[in-house]
Amino acid sequence: MHDSTKAAAAMESRDWLPLEPYPGAAKPWRCRCAHCAAIKIKRLSHVRKGRARCTDCAGNTISAATAAAIMTAADLEPLTDYPGQQLRPWIAKCLRCGHLGTPTLASVRIRGHQCWACRAAPFPARQPLDEKQAVACMLAHGLQPLDPYPGHTNAPWKSRCITCDNHSTPVPGALPGHHGACPVCARQGINPSEPGYLYLVVHDSLRALGWGVANSGRRHPHPASWPWRPLARWHFAAAQDAWAFGRHLKQRIRSNGCPPVPHAEPETGPARAQTASLDDFSYEQAVRIMEEVAGPAS
Ligand SMILES: [Zn+2]
Ligand SMILES: [Zn+2]
Ligand SMILES: [Zn+2]
Repeated sequence: MHDSTKAAAAMESRDWLPLEPYPGAAKPWRCRCAHCAAIKIKRLSHVRKGRARCTDCAGNTISAATAAAIMTAADLEPLTDYPGQQLRPWIAKCLRCGHLGTPTLASVRIRGHQCWACRAAPFPARQPLDEKQAVACMLAHGLQPLDPYPGHTNAPWKSRCITCDNHSTPVPGALPGHHGACPVCARQGINPSEPGYLYLVVHDSLRALGWGVANSGRRHPHPASWPWRPLARWHFAAAQDAWAFGRHLKQRIRSNGCPPVPHAEPETGPARAQTASLDDFSYEQAVRIMEEVAGPAS
């Protein structure tokens, strides 16, 4: 378990997004280039030695300063340093309406200003999209496509939800503007446009850290009946903004090679995909990551 999370983190840090479970270090592994969206067969042992750059986009790197300038020119204020990959969702604030989202640099470069709140174009269904544009749109919706782009936006496309890790086959052209594209997440019954918050909780006997999103009107279960201790929360005008931060936190935790805890109890707490072991990642570290982008807990 730990090995496969570390292997995926190592691959992602070298600009390859794995599309299937870890097969072993020397085995062929289907991955997508985090810059140009090309799908290639890679081997972790080669990538580790620095021998597996993407041949499709070699020499096409963008500096952090240029990346930030592209975002600002499109009225988006990045809240973190450039994540280093054009297809990695980048937490940013819309300078026109204040909405917080996770556009990718790839989509901003191609299509300019990206914001669901003030530019109501959920998925550019009418325009023909190439593979990179289509992948960038899916990632901004919190979905990582696992297959090549089917070529148009009204065909189902196998994807993994970045929030809950479940697989589904949504039709891109039918995706809503907000994060509600994953049927598993949608069943949580969160209203994305109502006020909401991101919470951090700790389970002492499981030695687990957990996080999740709830609407502000909804209360946590009584502490006596809930093994998870609520420790901090960050409020947002819309719950969909809290999702963006939840994905950011998760990405930071997993990119350190920290897997979910093996025995989470999803019926009484956060989904397993939104947990980490306190032995791998401390509560204080999680708070620091949140404070860097969202300010002090409310
Ligand atoms: Zn590439
Ligand atoms: Zn906006
Ligand atoms: Zn989901």
